[in-house]
Amino acid sequence: MGAFQTITGSCFCGANQFEITEPAVDTHHCHCSICRRVHAAPFVTWSIFPRSGFKWTKGPQLQTFHSSAAVHRNRCTNCGSNLTADVDPLPDKLFVSRANFSNLNADPGHPPTTLRHAFWPDRVPWLEINDSVRKTEGFDS
Ligand SMILES: [Zn+2]
Ligand SMILES: [Zn+2]
Repeated sequence: MGAFQTITGSCFCGANQFEITEPAVDTHHCHCSICRRVHAAPFVTWSIFPRSGFKWTKGPQLQTFHSSAAVHRNRCTNCGSNLTADVDPLPDKLFVSRANFSNLNADPGHPPTTLRHAFWPDRVPWLEINDSVRKTEGFDS
């Protein structure tokens, strides 16, 4: 493993741009019904980064949707891209949607053992996933 390489990303329209300079602590594919509906996608891949290593380099121009009492989802006010989520029990961390990275091959740098399909029982039935990544019933970091 080499040194962590800075990750950049943005929403679709570019009104929000970010830079990440510290490695993630976790990456998971979230199949929960809330992620699916909010992102209008079969699942959402989140990397969780230390807040200290995340900064907006353009914007932020965000609208926050409180999908539950403890989860606050931030989307671009212009193009609607869902970018980040603040989760109250993890105040020093930020969830970042990995699909918004500029370089889709960027290594988020999380410990490999954290990768998982979270909320696996809630997945859509019309997408076949045959990888060897572990499956968990809930969030289960
Ligand atoms: Zn945008
Ligand atoms: Zn979810």
